[in-house]
Amino acid sequence: MNAFYMPAKVITGYNSVMDNADLFKNLGKKALIVCGKSSAAKCGALEDVISVLEKNGQDYFIFNEIMPNPTIDVVYKGADVAKSKNTDFIVAIGGGSPMDAAKSIAVLAKEDVKREDIFKGGFKNALPMIHIPTTAGTGSEVTPYSILTNDAVQSKMTMSSPVMFPEYALLDGKYMESLPYEITVNTVVDALSHSVEGMLSDKSTVFSDMAARKSIEMISAHFDDLLSGEFDLKTRQEFLEASCLGGMVISQTGTTVVHTMGYSFTYFKGTDHGRANGLTLGEFLKIGEKHCPERIEEIMTYLGMGSADEFVSYLDKLLKPTEVLTTDEVKKYTEITMRLAAKKLGACKIKATEADIADMYAKVGKR
Ligand code: NAP
Ligand code: ZN
Repeated sequence: MNAFYMPAKVITGYNSVMDNADLFKNLGKKALIVCGKSSAAKCGALEDVISVLEKNGQDYFIFNEIMPNPTIDVVYKGADVAKSKNTDFIVAIGGGSPMDAAKSIAVLAKEDVKREDIFKGGFKNALPMIHIPTTAGTGSEVTPYSILTNDAVQSKMTMSSPVMFPEYALLDGKYMESLPYEITVNTVVDALSHSVEGMLSDKSTVFSDMAARKSIEMISAHFDDLLSGEFDLKTRQEFLEASCLGGMVISQTGTTVVHTMGYSFTYFKGTDHGRANGLTLGEFLKIGEKHCPERIEEIMTYLGMGSADEFVSYLDKLLKPTEVLTTDEVKKYTEITMRLAAKKLGACKIKATEADIADMYAKVGKR
């Protein structure tokens, strides 16, 4: 069976915020602007949003406390602010962290959800949202997921519900011109990871594959630019659109164990999310050459690579891994991954074993 459900209206292009003031008007009287400490202002998106809201005669309150890899505490705090300030819609500005946090806040502002039930889903209501990505990587603007740090499991977990899809996503590459090189690279690797992982999921469909192939092709066309660090506005816009396509892919398929493995790097070592995926993605495809060789060959075609080995070398050149795990860390991360990724492992074309996972962790930084 093939199906595709992604109800957000996506508008891409230069000045898409300023040129779509009516969309903001549709959503309510008072906005909660959800963003991180400084990037929303630095990249110019906050100024554009405020100018649109003021022109529309709409009120707003800025909640700029979202940290990278948002916590459960911060989304409950954001929901309290949304309620106490009587905001009736959300404008999320930022990378995946503010966009994810905004989706949790949207639900928690409308429903009383106990902390122990936050990852159980089944939500019925959420404030309407406009998402404005300022990184090109997560595709969070078109997914129904919010990934939150969960100390109880020493990892990250997903809050999810169809009501968490934003109403609108506005994609303007000019907001990405302030991104430092490392964040640009790490986030693009995340986008690539989403599309590649989506193609390896048993839940992939003709529709998700179409988005995945295009997204991989759009990113691999810039593999040399990623190494050189030179990105013009057109390239930034292409990364953003490829990232959005990657988000559409995982909104249908979810991610694979590569993401769960990455959460341990992020939780214990503070590794950026996209980089954390890139540390094992290539090795995962090498395992896949034994399990689903035709699928891997297809992915290689869109990557413009001859083999998974060649892709591993490219990622090593791009990310220059310095993370090396001790034997105890390999054991611990593998245990956590096996505990949290049972469903993902079962729904993947690559049937990775516990030994494969330990081996992938052990190889990081050692090539
Ligand atoms: P991020 O955590 O949102 O942001 C990383 C850093 O980049 C922050 O310091 C941020 O600053 C800065 N930044 C953002 N935009 C900038 C800009 N235009 N110019 C300069 N600096 C900028 O990074 P991310 O990689 O986009 O998001 C990662 C998060 O998304 C993780 O928590 C991951 O689990 C989640 N994720 C979610 C999905 C999903 O489907 N929901 C998919 C993949 C990943 P500020 O702090 O000042 O904003
Ligand atoms: Zn990701």
